[in-house]
Amino acid sequence: RGKRAFIAGIADDNGYGWAIAKSLAAAGAEILVGTWVPALNIFETSLRRGKFDESRVLPDGSLMEIAKVYPLDAVYDTPEDVPEDVKANKRYAGSSKWTVKEVAESVKEDFGSIDILVHSLANGPEVSKPLLETSRYGYLAAISASSYSYVSLLQHFAPIMNPGGATISLTYIASERIIPGYGGGMSSAKAALESDTQVLAFEAGRKHGIRVNTISAGPLGSRAAKAIGFIDKMINYSIENAPVQKELSAEEVGNAAAFLASPLASAITGAVLYVDNGLNAMGVGV
Ligand code: NAD
Repeated sequence: RGKRAFIAGIADDNGYGWAIAKSLAAAGAEILVGTWVPALNIFETSLRRGKFDESRVLPDGSLMEIAKVYPLDAVYDTPEDVPEDVKANKRYAGSSKWTVKEVAESVKEDFGSIDILVHSLANGPEVSKPLLETSRYGYLAAISASSYSYVSLLQHFAPIMNPGGATISLTYIASERIIPGYGGGMSSAKAALESDTQVLAFEAGRKHGIRVNTISAGPLGSRAAKAIGFIDKMINYSIENAPVQKELSAEEVGNAAAFLASPLASAITGAVLYVDNGLNAMGVGV
């Protein structure tokens, strides 16, 4: 039987989630997607109208199929957590069963089980503010959307994951080195995500027989990254200063994720894998 993957955090064909889906599909996995509720309509419409067809092409010439797209808002765990104003919001009212618990239940009902879980989402409403100017609200919102969302996904999906399964998240070096401009508590959120990767590797390894890893990815001009405002600078900095002097492609991160999710990585868990042309190893720019 082929493997089945649920990838949370795809809303277009530019980000890491899409590239990971493609690499997993190329390796034969069945692809399920979780898309942020406010972005669902445009994503599904674009998909249906063939807007992504060029980027759906796999190495063998076939097109990546997405078996099902689920609406998801990973800052809410159960329907009881959803505030009234969000419930009443037009974009949310048009969809149903999009809290983490409900999505896991729907996937179980539709497909029974999964083998691979990917968390490729982050959000920090005050990301463009320095940490020193970040509000408590902004900081906690960054942690909620970018770190706890992973704990919640694993909590609800691990019980429907087959033993030998693997989960992967995406992190950024701003967790451990100073990256001015990555503010709003996003650096703190990535530090939490990396620490949680170790604890969750232990707990989910023992309880469910699954592996938990994170990829520390170099800069990519995704939609989320463009919202931060310094991505072009980061891409150029990396090309100038990394050991391997080239632009990082999303596909390279996708391929590393496919490796981590595969039996080739059966002894790797609790790890932060750098996929950044080696930039993390530099002490100074040259
Ligand atoms: P992206 O815009 O493709 O992906 C982010 C996704 O998160 C979007 O699809 C968005 O709709 C979704 N999202 C936001 N809030 C959500 C919520 N509450 N519930 C569900 N989905 C939600 O951008 P990306 O850069 O590919 O980001 C994917 C991951 O890669 C993130 O964790 C990001 O921090 C990480 N990363 C990105 C870079 C980079 O330079 N782009 C570098 C290192 C790590």
